[in-house]
Amino acid sequence: MATCPPDVPQRIGIFGGTFDPVHLAHLRLARAFRDEIALDQVRLIPAGQPYHRSARPQASPVQRLAMLDAALAGEPGLVSDAREIRRPRYAYTVETLQELRAELGAQAELWFLIGADSLEKLHTWHRWPQLLQLANLAVAIRPGFDAAQLDPAVAAHWQARQVSDFSNRTPSGTIRALALPPITLSATDIRQQLATGQDCSALLSPPVLAYIRQHRLYT
Ligand code: ATP
Repeated sequence: MATCPPDVPQRIGIFGGTFDPVHLAHLRLARAFRDEIALDQVRLIPAGQPYHRSARPQASPVQRLAMLDAALAGEPGLVSDAREIRRPRYAYTVETLQELRAELGAQAELWFLIGADSLEKLHTWHRWPQLLQLANLAVAIRPGFDAAQLDPAVAAHWQARQVSDFSNRTPSGTIRALALPPITLSATDIRQQLATGQDCSALLSPPVLAYIRQHRLYT
């Protein structure tokens, strides 16, 4: 009699950002995240009104989501998740992870992606130690990253929880560094370039650029 294979827990990546607009560095990062950790799916989650940014996003939440969907069409395993922009108030990351954990179950392997710049500020995030109880952390580090610059409490987790291979995969609690080639590109620069009429076709995917033109964004 054939035996059923054991249920393999899903491996889900979570990549939050303002995505104002989503650009090619975001897409490269999401693909590298998917491939390096062998994720079944990466959810790109546009933020509502980020509490830690002084400037409000320039494009509306609906527009940022539309650009994200345009960029992700045809990208295997990369999907948008609109939960944060649908919330009536700002969503803390820890709340988003709690929601995802409740939906996906205790056995799902969750990976939350942050850049090294965010890791340096992690100790200022709302209920940050709980993030590691809810998910694993993938940190995109750049050459020159220095763990000695981290807040001592974050550095302690960085040392104790880091794994360099996947022999012991767990639903949450480990940290993995992803060494990625640096890409000098930010949405801030792109908005400025668009505002001054410069050509950004090498920095944005074609459907995102078409959407920006059609809706006269960032002028
Ligand atoms: P802005 O310039 O408006 O702050 P951004 O380009 O940094 O935007 P975000 O939406 O804030 O884009 O970024 C989402 C995530 O993507 C963050 O974790 C950020 O660190 C990461 N990220 C953005 N650009 C790059 C890049 N060029 N290389 C590596 N990571 C990046």
